[in-house]
Amino acid sequence: MAKASDSVSDEYIQHLPKAELHLHLEGSVTPATLRDLSRKYQSQYASLTEEELEAQLFHYRDFYHFLVTYRTVCEHLRQPEDYSMVLGRLGVYFREQNIRYAEIIYTPSIPWRAERDGKDVLVALLEQGARIATQGTTIRWILDCVRQFEVEWAWRTAELAAEFSGQGVVGIGLGGDENSLAMSEYQGVFSWIRDHGLHAHVHAGEIGDAQQVWEALKVLGARRIGHGIQAVRDPDLVDYLCHHGIGLDVCLTSNASTGAWTPISDNPFGLLFRRGAAVTLNTDDPGLFGVSLNQEFQLAARLFQLGREDIDRLVLQGVRSSFLPQLEREALLKEFEEEIGRISV
Ligand SMILES: [Zn+2]
Repeated sequence: MAKASDSVSDEYIQHLPKAELHLHLEGSVTPATLRDLSRKYQSQYASLTEEELEAQLFHYRDFYHFLVTYRTVCEHLRQPEDYSMVLGRLGVYFREQNIRYAEIIYTPSIPWRAERDGKDVLVALLEQGARIATQGTTIRWILDCVRQFEVEWAWRTAELAAEFSGQGVVGIGLGGDENSLAMSEYQGVFSWIRDHGLHAHVHAGEIGDAQQVWEALKVLGARRIGHGIQAVRDPDLVDYLCHHGIGLDVCLTSNASTGAWTPISDNPFGLLFRRGAAVTLNTDDPGLFGVSLNQEFQLAARLFQLGREDIDRLVLQGVRSSFLPQLEREALLKEFEEEIGRISV
């Protein structure tokens, strides 16, 4: 429990250098950005205001309802310049939030399935990412496969990731609906990608059960788990995660917004953190959930009675759980530690 003298102010959270490891590019689209894109393409939403879009599309009954809006947003991302614009706006968010390192998830099979060029999009994103790096935020990429799409798309995603390995792509991921294709369908893809020196990131234990997390680890060789909150239902799994330092990207507001775990105050984050699991805080989809990383830290501090040392530990875990090579990770960790030591508020 935090002592009163140890309280965490919003100002302190703002000053902390931060890493965000679980952030979907497509999910960073805000109602204002969707308005701009819908007007550009004269879509069925072109006449709606930002507020009307927010009210009609940005609230969710459950995870599947959330996926409907996700698809609507993706249908408005039609050209590399659209993705580049979205990343440019994310760059503003990074500066506002003092986010110095981000692993962004991009899903190339979405443009491919719409018969658009997913590789051109990645090239545009890498160019925009290089501009953002000059403004103080280093970006690395995870190319995501979608669980409910055919496995052939995952192979194509893996090949693209391998082609751009060393140019900013650090891993491939598996996201989407945990109740669709079996994890084993992706075993060959993930084995191939690990042989190419890339990391495996798997969404598991979000709406699926603890067994999904076990399979992500044992079948796909995941080094980090997206969400993983359902692991708390299996004490042996929690022991395993703690013992092996497997990163869990926790996204409190996302879990409440999709109904994956409500209320926020009961999120397993608190228990996992106290047990020593390698948990980090993330927004998942800051545009779609209307949330920022600083707000997630504020929520966690308040709801789980975290003190400064706890918050510092969470921030540093964001670097420790990253897919950066060891030397870069250690250098960034040192930079964060020194900067945290200098915060005077
Ligand atoms: Zn996610």
